[in-house]
Amino acid sequence: MNCPNCQTEMAPAKRHGIDVDACPSCKGVWLNQQELDALEDEAFDLGDHEKGTLVFATEGSDRACPVCAKPLQGFMYRLYDLPLEFCAEGHGYFLDAGEDDRVLALMREEEARLKRSEKAEDRWTAHLKHLRSGNFFDRLRGLFE
Ligand SMILES: [Zn+2]
Ligand SMILES: [Zn+2]
Repeated sequence: MNCPNCQTEMAPAKRHGIDVDACPSCKGVWLNQQELDALEDEAFDLGDHEKGTLVFATEGSDRACPVCAKPLQGFMYRLYDLPLEFCAEGHGYFLDAGEDDRVLALMREEEARLKRSEKAEDRWTAHLKHLRSGNFFDRLRGLFE
């Protein structure tokens, strides 16, 4: 399989413990769907529905899929300003050199953000308990009687 960026033969490599195909020349990385999932799992544990290869603002790329040779589509990863390219036939994703590190960094930011929002939820739960401890709901119900 040749690198979509520079046509060098890609070689199997391990990035962050995940098997990928990497370009020895431009250091681009080719990931299939499972490998991108694995990279996300490596960064943090989300439910499958939370995993996001949210595709928006796609635009044609001048690079071609190394599997089927169709033009890759550019897209932004998870609303972040991280351009990736993917094959619309589902053959995989191409990351320029260092972008997989950026993906992991972004995922870790996301994880930190989620942890913060968990804390916010804890505060909300505590707040609800406080409300329930009184007769707040009785009074609320009273409004509708
Ligand atoms: Zn290359
Ligand atoms: Zn393809």
